[in-house]
Amino acid sequence: MPKDMRTFMDQVAKERPGEILMVDEEVDPKFEITGIASKLASQGRFPAIFCRKVKGTRLPVVINLTASYERLALAVGTSTENMVPDYANRPAAKIPPKISEKSNAPVKEIILKGGDAKMSVLPVPTHNEFDAGPYITGDTLICKDPDSGALNAGMYRIQVQKEQQLGVWMWDTHHGAHIRRRHEELGKEMDVAIAIGHHPAYIMACVSTLPGVGGEFDEAGALLGEPLEVVPAETVDLLVPSRAEIVIEGKIPPGERAFEGPFAEWPGTYVAEGEKPFIKVTAITMRKDAIYYDVFSSNREHTVLGSLPRMGVIYRTVKQYVPGVRNVNIPVHSRMYCFISIKKESEMDPKRAAMAALNVEPFNLKTIVVVDDDINVFNDAEVLWAIGTRCHFERGLTLIPSMAGPGGLNPVGYEFHPDGSKTPVMISALIVDATKPAPPIPYPPTAKVPQEVLDRLDPVRMLKEFKGFEG
Ligand code: MN
Repeated sequence: MPKDMRTFMDQVAKERPGEILMVDEEVDPKFEITGIASKLASQGRFPAIFCRKVKGTRLPVVINLTASYERLALAVGTSTENMVPDYANRPAAKIPPKISEKSNAPVKEIILKGGDAKMSVLPVPTHNEFDAGPYITGDTLICKDPDSGALNAGMYRIQVQKEQQLGVWMWDTHHGAHIRRRHEELGKEMDVAIAIGHHPAYIMACVSTLPGVGGEFDEAGALLGEPLEVVPAETVDLLVPSRAEIVIEGKIPPGERAFEGPFAEWPGTYVAEGEKPFIKVTAITMRKDAIYYDVFSSNREHTVLGSLPRMGVIYRTVKQYVPGVRNVNIPVHSRMYCFISIKKESEMDPKRAAMAALNVEPFNLKTIVVVDDDINVFNDAEVLWAIGTRCHFERGLTLIPSMAGPGGLNPVGYEFHPDGSKTPVMISALIVDATKPAPPIPYPPTAKVPQEVLDRLDPVRMLKEFKGFEG
C-alpha cells in the first residue's frame, strides 16, 4: 500500500493513541475549526483534529495533523531526538517519481472542469479574526520552470478570492516566484496545480529549501522511502501526486494583480497584504470521499511543519564548518529562534555554527543559541539554564546589525508610523554563546544523581499514591 495521508492517519491512530481526535458535531469552517484547535493549544494540547461534518460542504477537514515534532518524526520513521540528523542525511539518496495510470489515481475519482470547478465545493477554513477570508494553507503548489522544464513544488499561502479565483503570494526568493517572474517576462500564462492532503513526508519535501529549482518529488521519494506516484493533470501541463486528496488546477495570467490579504502568518501577526498575482481555476479533481487537509497558519502547526526541513538543512550546513554539531532545534513555539548543540573543540566553534545557521535562514532566525552537547536543545529549560550558567554576556553576545530584510513577515522588519503607514527596515540578529570553555580548560561539573543509580531504579513500579494518614 503506497503511503498517503490516510495511511499516515492510521499509523498515528495505532502508534500514537490519543493524538487524533474526532468532532462529529457540525462545525463552521469560518473560525470554528481553528477555534477548537486554538482552545486546545491554550491548554498545551496539539492533537490532530478530524472534523467530520463541515457546514456548507460534504468534505471533512483535518487540522493539526502535522502540528507536533513527534508526529513529523513518525512520518519519516525516526524519533524526535534523532529526527534532525536523520532528516539531514536521508535525502542524499533521491528516488524519482513514478507515473501511474489515471485509473489507479485516487485523486481522479471526481473530475470537475469549467464552471463546475468552484471553490465552494471545498471546506476552506477562515483561520484568524483579521484574515481577509478563507485561505488554503496545506497546499503544495506545483509549477514548471519554462527554461529547464523542471517541476518545482512549494507551500504558499493561497486566498480564495472568488469561486474561480485564488490569490497567491510567493516570497521573492522562493522558486515559485522565480518561475512566475520568468513566465511574466515571456508574457506567458503559468500553469499551476495545487495538491491538498498527502503524506507528511511528501509535504516536508516540498517545504524543504532545496538548492536549485525543482527536485521536490525526488526528495519526497527519499523521505517516503518509495517513489511518489504522479499522474498528468487534466487542464494544465503538469504532473500531480496520484494519492493526494484534492488537486486544484489553474493558470496565473501574466501582468495581472488582485489585492491579497491580510492573512496571519507564522510570526502570529499581519504585515504583508498587497497587490499580488492570482490563479484562474480551471479544474478540481479529488477522491470521492476526499478529506481536506488544513494547516493552522500562525499557530504551532505552521511553525513545526516549516521547521523540521529547515532544521535538517541547517544541521547539514553547520556540519560543514563545525563537525562536532550534535543537534539543532527551532523550538515549537517560535520560528525566530534556533538552538544548536555542539561538542566544542575550539573557541571559534560557537560563532562558526551560528553564522552557518544564519546564512541558511537569515529571514526567519533572529536569535541563535549555541550550547554544549550535554544540553538537550529540545528542552527550553535546559537551554535557558545554559545561558544562565555558561554565557559571559560581555563577550558571549554578538549582535549582527541589519542581518536580514528589509520587510518580510516579522513586524520587526518594519517601522510603524502614526498615520498607519509602515516602512520596511533591516532586521538584526543575535548570537548567544552559552558554551563552556573549549578543552582543556576545566569547568565545574553539572549536578546529577549517578547514572548507575538512575539505570537501576524503576519509580513507576516503586511508587504508590499517599492517601492521607487516616487511609
Ligand atoms: Mn524548489
